[in-house]
Amino acid sequence: MNKKATNQYLTTLNGIRLTLKRGDLLDPMVSGNKYWKLKYNLREAQVQNDLGVLTFGGAFSNHLAETAAATAAMGLRSVGIVRGEEWAQKENQSPTLQFCKQKGMSLRYLSRSDYRQKETTAFLQHYQKTYPGYRLLPEGGTNPLALQGCAEVLDENDHPFDTICTPVGTGGTLAGLAMGGRTNQQFVGFSVLKNEGLNTQIKKLNPNTNWTLNTDYPLGGYAKTPPELIEFINDFKKKFTIPLDPIYTGKMLFGIFDLINKGLWRWGNNVLVVHTGGLQGIAGVNQRLAQKGATLLD
Ligand SMILES: *Cc1c(COP(=O)(O)O)cnc(C)c1O
Repeated sequence: MNKKATNQYLTTLNGIRLTLKRGDLLDPMVSGNKYWKLKYNLREAQVQNDLGVLTFGGAFSNHLAETAAATAAMGLRSVGIVRGEEWAQKENQSPTLQFCKQKGMSLRYLSRSDYRQKETTAFLQHYQKTYPGYRLLPEGGTNPLALQGCAEVLDENDHPFDTICTPVGTGGTLAGLAMGGRTNQQFVGFSVLKNEGLNTQIKKLNPNTNWTLNTDYPLGGYAKTPPELIEFINDFKKKFTIPLDPIYTGKMLFGIFDLINKGLWRWGNNVLVVHTGGLQGIAGVNQRLAQKGATLLD
């Protein structure tokens, strides 16, 4: 299972040449970057003869979906600890949770305050005791083995690009990609959440200076999907026949197009934009948009 994402030329805007790395094509359902982040973790689980994997996420989490799918494919069990006890009563309202269950993941629901304890030693010891033989992975899957998987995404075909862009949640993908970069390459992450401490957090994962974090395009905050974003993604799909998810890649490309159109692009002119996948999230977002009577994603 060594899947490579292909590059696809997109367009040239104000002299900036944009190419897309199609991580979304690794699997139509689950995130390309979560595959990169899980690869060595699951290999380690196999080598260590672990029973399965236990991990954490929200009710629409790409990480939970990918963990459920990837562990099932390898004959490993999986447990998903879900943020928000209310979801126990409305599993059927989350296409992500439905998918996880279909893949055989056992779901456990936690109140938001309990969920916030998920990185404490006492909490992790409790789960390790309750699920012996399971490998515990953090929310989003960011750990040293995840970074190693991301560091191997770029190959010799990517050497000509002077700038590489990726969306940022925890920053594990940005930090890992930048580890695999060449001296001529600058990495630009687009944060999808408002988090003051994020830059410092990513510095701990990768202290190099070959990456920067843009924080101007969370567009209202994590999982917020304003009409101008939905319109951008629908236009993008019409124009390029490429789908974008509204949580990560949609916001990044909205930001890239906006910066270039406004003449504010400060990086190189041969840009590789990493499509990290996440398309499974579209169904859940459409459900919420429909409840509000808003325009849906095509
Ligand atoms: C999780 C995710 C990201 C963010 O990855 P981090 O390593 O947490 O920064 C980006 N894109 C998609 C589609 C994701 O699912």
